[in-house]
Amino acid sequence: MKSVPEPANFMQVNPDRINLLDYDRKGLAAFFAGLGEKPFRATQLLKWIYQEGVEDFGLMTNLSKSLRAYLNEHCYIAIPGIVVEQIAGDGTRKWALQTSCGNRVETVFIPEEGRGTLCVSSQIGCALACTFCSTARQGFNRNLTTAEIIGQVIAAQQRLGPEKKITNVVMMGMGEPLLNFDNVVAAMNLMMDDFTFGLSKRRVTISTSGVVPAMYRLTQACDVSLAVSLHAVNDELRDQLVPINKKYPLKELMEACRDNAKLAPRRTITFEYVMLDGINDSMEDARGLIKLLKTVPSKLNLIPFNPFPGNAYRCSSSETINRFKTVLNDAGIVTTVRKTRGEDIDAACGQLVGQVEDKSRRHLKLKTVGSERAA
Ligand code: SAH
Repeated sequence: MKSVPEPANFMQVNPDRINLLDYDRKGLAAFFAGLGEKPFRATQLLKWIYQEGVEDFGLMTNLSKSLRAYLNEHCYIAIPGIVVEQIAGDGTRKWALQTSCGNRVETVFIPEEGRGTLCVSSQIGCALACTFCSTARQGFNRNLTTAEIIGQVIAAQQRLGPEKKITNVVMMGMGEPLLNFDNVVAAMNLMMDDFTFGLSKRRVTISTSGVVPAMYRLTQACDVSLAVSLHAVNDELRDQLVPINKKYPLKELMEACRDNAKLAPRRTITFEYVMLDGINDSMEDARGLIKLLKTVPSKLNLIPFNPFPGNAYRCSSSETINRFKTVLNDAGIVTTVRKTRGEDIDAACGQLVGQVEDKSRRHLKLKTVGSERAA
């Protein structure tokens, strides 16, 4: 584990000032309009920040002197600093980033032949209580700001340098992105903006555990790739594994997926399915999956369960996973097995924990449940 220098300014900024990384292009245009400035100031500013790497308003020479002075006084640009860096044997990198409230979130870079995927966090901790996920154990602190979300991409790209490009972003880090809707959408708009990272909508993926009303909003608001954490094919089991299912059961979830798939003719939804030994990996489950996924243009991504301390689940055997894959593929559903990356540094799916001061007091609730059981 390597410590890197403390971030320069993130902790010391004046809270009354505006971090301009909180705005996407539309937001910036509105901000400048409020100052009586033309909308093209938004693209000028984006170019300075994201293409030139300039954070000092004084150096933004195509802005008028008075505007630069105003920005200096009322605004700032601050990227969350990387405080810990870990590099796995397979080249996966995990960074802990410091947020303004003292908590840390984690971001993971996964290099592959011809591409580099960044796995970005949307919240400090997570309010959902999926039973097989270690982020859930941390409890929940707060939503990340747009600046803290896009800041993960900026910080990662700066750290990687020009040789290693981030080509894909997946909102699959800590948190449930659709419970932080506005900030996540603004950050994804920024990732896809031609004046920033210019990623195509096929290379930006948001993953949700199934917050159905927000899925409909997303379909209207922002065209990115959608992944859905399914994990079970009947409500009884999904209620246990992904408790938000009690609020938005499978029927409603699949309807929201169909609505999203209508966005474009050949669009598919990626369904994620964690392979839990003896829990959701029977041939009956495979047949249930086929039936369910036939109702939506889908791809299936099987995720070998990544264990973490204090959790009783086990990963399905590789034979079971392969049999599952074959049965699904034979039924015409494109199915892949997610390669586990970075497990030696706890960077794999469901292993991100950061440093979270739990405001939901979930640890207390868990303790109570534990002692009741023991009694
Ligand atoms: N909250 C969002 C974003 C998290 S994405 C969501 O649920 O989709 C992280 C993915 O890894 C999700 O599919 C999640 O269910 C899965 N995951 C969580 N814990 C895991 C574990 N221990 N092993 C494998 N996959 C896990």
